[in-house]
Amino acid sequence: MRDFTHKIYRDFLISLKKENFQFITVEEYFSLKYDKNRAFIIIRHDVDRRPKSSLKMAKIENSMGIKATYYFRTISRTLKPDIIREIATLGHEIGYHYESLAETNGNYEKAIRDFARNLSKLREIYPIKSISMHGRPTSKWDSRLLWKRYNYRDYGILSEPYLDIDFKKVLYITDAGREWNNDLINRRDRVNSSFNFGFKHTEEIILNIDRGVLPNKIMVNIHPEHWSENNIEWYRVLLIRKIKNFVKRQLLNL
Ligand SMILES: [Zn+2]
Repeated sequence: MRDFTHKIYRDFLISLKKENFQFITVEEYFSLKYDKNRAFIIIRHDVDRRPKSSLKMAKIENSMGIKATYYFRTISRTLKPDIIREIATLGHEIGYHYESLAETNGNYEKAIRDFARNLSKLREIYPIKSISMHGRPTSKWDSRLLWKRYNYRDYGILSEPYLDIDFKKVLYITDAGREWNNDLINRRDRVNSSFNFGFKHTEEIILNIDRGVLPNKIMVNIHPEHWSENNIEWYRVLLIRKIKNFVKRQLLNL
């Protein structure tokens, strides 16, 4: 069966619901607004490009009574106020997917100004409380390093999941590069984990949920642009991914 379709995404959500997982946003997690006695999953989406794909996913989740957190880059392709507002209206949290240190080639002073400027642009649309780093594999700069010199809490930000969640206790699953937890093509979207599931297909994740063998604390990072609702879209995404992952592998081998 083809992977990364909206149908499989729905199946994934259905099996989580059957296992009685509660779906919480990043803000709810950090403000402790959830039931501590129940399993939880934080669905986090990085909106790297194609914000319309995110809107589709936001609608699927909303139709199933599910909330997620959407981190938007502030490049012109993704900073689409109407789409961001619509996703927020569907009950989801909006966060800022920053890349300031990569954007300014490691210039910390320029980077923090870039960060503050983009944050205030997003805050014209939504009261942002959470940020997450965009990995930008073509840059040698890891934007999280900005927080060695500055403090995002000074900007009214409560959390950066990469830095504030203990991934020894919370299972982290990411579809970066349209493959599950594949470090060979994934330069920065990694965490220090104590779990080792090695999923190849979404079906395997679903099977593990159904068997009740996944931990009861999970964060999954899903890039909506990798997932498609029809055949044409699916092949288009596959082709783009093959090219991008080829380029990424070359970069990582350097
Ligand atoms: Zn990203």
